[in-house]
Amino acid sequence: MSNRNAVFVLDSSRNPCNPVHPAVARKMLSQGIAAVFRQYPFSIILKEGKCDNPKQLRIKIDPGARFTGLALVSDTNIVWAAELEHRGFAIRDSLTIRLQQRRSRRQRKTRYRKPRFLNRRRQDGWLPPSLMSRVYNIQTWVNRLCKLAPVFAISQELVKFDMQKIVNPEVNGIEYQHGELWGYEVKQYLLEKFNHTCVYCGATDKPFNLDHFHPKSKGGSDQVSNFVLSCVDCNQAKSNKLPAEFLSDRPDIFAKIDKQRKQPLADAAAVNTTRWKLKQVLESLGLPVELGSGGLTKYNRQRLGIQKSHWADAVCVGHSTPNSFNITGYQPLIIKAMGRGSRQMVNPDKYGFPRTKPKLRQKAFYGFQTGDIVKAVVTKGKKVGTYVGRIAVRKTGSFNIKTKTDTVQGISHKYCRILHKSDGYTYSFGEALNQKSSQLKPKVTETKLKEFQEFKGFQGEQLSLF
Ligand SMILES: [Zn+2]
Repeated sequence: MSNRNAVFVLDSSRNPCNPVHPAVARKMLSQGIAAVFRQYPFSIILKEGKCDNPKQLRIKIDPGARFTGLALVSDTNIVWAAELEHRGFAIRDSLTIRLQQRRSRRQRKTRYRKPRFLNRRRQDGWLPPSLMSRVYNIQTWVNRLCKLAPVFAISQELVKFDMQKIVNPEVNGIEYQHGELWGYEVKQYLLEKFNHTCVYCGATDKPFNLDHFHPKSKGGSDQVSNFVLSCVDCNQAKSNKLPAEFLSDRPDIFAKIDKQRKQPLADAAAVNTTRWKLKQVLESLGLPVELGSGGLTKYNRQRLGIQKSHWADAVCVGHSTPNSFNITGYQPLIIKAMGRGSRQMVNPDKYGFPRTKPKLRQKAFYGFQTGDIVKAVVTKGKKVGTYVGRIAVRKTGSFNIKTKTDTVQGISHKYCRILHKSDGYTYSFGEALNQKSSQLKPKVTETKLKEFQEFKGFQGEQLSLF
């Protein structure tokens, strides 16, 4: 069985059933048992019948600034995966434009307006619109998935490192303290804290060890503040010497390390407000929310041998991640937030004067709206052919279609048929993942790359950087 996003199935009263393989869905459609309910994500609805005891699925979310990974998983399988692209920066830009326009309007010769710039108070928990849009995008998709699939729980990545667990491993039990995961999360944390650099010699591209700054044999503790990042050579040279002894000829370095090791990583402690807001929103949906750290996600991903991508990270969020997932050849749905049009009425020229007439108040023409995904089969004229894509409507009825490869202009509405009504997003399919990370070439460092480029016997071999 190839690895494709499953097709969502609703019963005749629109309750979610078990998602099915696309081949099964095709068969059901051709037999007339079901009809297409929605194109993106592809969903079908049964004409008759009810479904009992659907599987319990979990939504997993890895929120990011530009992309959020979404995955829907069962105990053993990935059912559906997607990458959601946010429009945070676009929102910030258009708000800046609005601010400039309002400011310039106030400067013009107009009637007296009372100053009103300090009479508003922001509510508690207010976040800028560019950040809130990310939260709303995710909320929208969690709601949509809950309507299409039997979801019973949510997992979200909340923090980069689980500081409480790193600093106080005792509170999480002896198993965690001595477990592989603790060592892993601490190592990731120290790599970040010491910027992937050996504290003793400054090497950056050597294998690293965790070094007890005060040696354990001389009473040094297992606290994270007693760990520093050291390359294997320095670690062995230092052995069980006291740090002051080992660095007796370099007292300035000793002082620097001693200061740095006691300071927590500023970034890890900083609260990521958007993620906490998202946590609040998800918890308000009434489903149990499992929280994980970035360190845990990375640990799971490497344990499962999965290549990094936004959606694969989502699959690996949280403690509920099982020991194996078949992920080869998986092709995620790429969802891009597009907004629902702009409020700007006139296009200005480069001097700021209106270039066009005010926009019509009407949004739909001939039953189409900008953002609809259509299929156009053109049978006459210069543009004969079939086009599928997102349209931009014109009052004249001659539309533009943005296909996968380019934009086709001047397609009459008569040739168009709607596949998917505009819903604020546009869709495409991502690259299939073909390799497990264990089969990948080792990471090419800068020195290796240089060596490679200087090597004269180069014979058309592919160089790839991961
Ligand atoms: Zn070193």
